[in-house]
Amino acid sequence: MTINKFTPQLLALVLLLMVQCQTPENQSQDGAQSIDVSGIANHIEVLASDDYSGRMPFTEGEEKTVAYLTRAFTDLGLEPGNGDSYVQEVPLVEINATPQGNMVLKGGAGSRELTYLDEFVALTRRVQEEVTVADSEMVFAGYGIVAPEYDWDDYQDLDVSGKTVVVMVNDPGYGSEDATFFKGNTMTYYGRWTYKYEEAARQGAEAVIIVHDDGPAGYPWEVVRGGWSGPNQYLKAADNNQSRCAIEGWISLPVAKELFISAGLDPVLMDQSKNPDFKPVALNTTMSVQLSNALREDRSNNVIAVIPGTERPDEYIIYSAHWDHMGVGQPINGDSIYNGAEDNASGVACLLEIAQGFMEAKPAPKRSVVILLVTAEEQGLLGSAYYASNPIFPPEKTVANLNMDALGSFGPTKDLIVIGHGQSELDDYVEVVAKNQGRYIVPDQDPEKGYFFRSDHFSFAKIGIPAMYAEGGLDSEANGKEWGRTQKEAYTANRYHKPSDEYNPETWDLHGMVKDSQLFYQVGYTLAGESTFPKWKEGSEFKSIRDAYMNP
Ligand SMILES: [Zn+2]
Repeated sequence: MTINKFTPQLLALVLLLMVQCQTPENQSQDGAQSIDVSGIANHIEVLASDDYSGRMPFTEGEEKTVAYLTRAFTDLGLEPGNGDSYVQEVPLVEINATPQGNMVLKGGAGSRELTYLDEFVALTRRVQEEVTVADSEMVFAGYGIVAPEYDWDDYQDLDVSGKTVVVMVNDPGYGSEDATFFKGNTMTYYGRWTYKYEEAARQGAEAVIIVHDDGPAGYPWEVVRGGWSGPNQYLKAADNNQSRCAIEGWISLPVAKELFISAGLDPVLMDQSKNPDFKPVALNTTMSVQLSNALREDRSNNVIAVIPGTERPDEYIIYSAHWDHMGVGQPINGDSIYNGAEDNASGVACLLEIAQGFMEAKPAPKRSVVILLVTAEEQGLLGSAYYASNPIFPPEKTVANLNMDALGSFGPTKDLIVIGHGQSELDDYVEVVAKNQGRYIVPDQDPEKGYFFRSDHFSFAKIGIPAMYAEGGLDSEANGKEWGRTQKEAYTANRYHKPSDEYNPETWDLHGMVKDSQLFYQVGYTLAGESTFPKWKEGSEFKSIRDAYMNP
């Protein structure tokens, strides 16, 4: 079309079409209507029953769950998402690492042994029975961050091969009261311990140790002590995780101060590493530690189906929810089955209803819709991380990820919490649908806790795919905000990750899940009808990752 053919009539038509795109006509009511309370209830009742034993990976609970989900996909008429299979195998390894003796630091002031659990913890992801680090030179690399959007590189001109990198917890923005500097107190991806371990490995360090500090960590040393001891499950990469650092550990803040002083350095350097002109410092100290590992390897399963698009079948909207929970564990009040009804039988049930919605949508979705039910979220987002490093559908053809985890069971809310609000243009899609539902958007209430990095959508964000994580808020339609807050707090205090996270048809009001599912459905349906790709917003730590392969 050239400009001289652009008649007023045509202009009017174009404007009319543009206006229509903004209205609910771009959504499918048939699909949304098929999402209902009884459908959700039926799935939750089965998945959260004692018979499924808390849906722990590697157990009979997994076998039953995978069989149920596969059957549900077949019943709905969905196509297998992995070639001719509904499952994607996820190789996992459980490593129970025990230090042989203590961690030894040798420096100018002599040799100092750190006491295991009180002063240091150390794990490894390397799949081998022994891991030894001997007399590895220690270097302090500030926050251990490489962030192009802040022009920040703690590893600049630093060769860390064979060395032990010591880094601070969180990111330099914490406590700065400057929302434009690493987003201030809002935790960025760079503040997560997972990132620090990954970056140190990319840089070729032999070991990486994070300095714990209550405030910026957001939890006391006891949490480190508990979480970094005992068996842990990891993805098992083809190289047996040899590309990871040999040691991933923590030391307490008092030990870190001592380390600086004995090296003849001022501990104030730790604070000064917040400054953009900070340079890494050799610690004139070596580190030695040895781990002996008990290994157990097994395979779990992601369950995946696809609804092929009618016009752009090679472009994908990926919905995700984790099917796993915590299995059978410590009994509380005589109950040892961690049923995980809200977390996350609810998300899986809603996603199955959404899948049905897409099957009934008129017109059918133009882009393909993928339903991905992932394993081992509770062990550290492992199923989704495996998908992200072994994507079945190309990331550059994947439009967005929409993730559902632990939906509220106390009825519809007027508000919708968007975790990581401000990260991507998906916010705008959610806003339109929420408005149509008569709801308002609330950003994450505890952005310093980094919830955006704690469910499966984050695995997609890490490979650059715009990802959305939203949930019903506190403002109960029927009973108001205070009542809603009480309900949510009761869940967190009494049921979250406890055997009492059970389905109760008497007390649960599933109408909220219906409404939230309809919202998720409409957002996906809108995206499926478009030909454009939503972007990360300026300042998002995932933007450069996406741009690198979308605009080469
Ligand atoms: Zn969950």
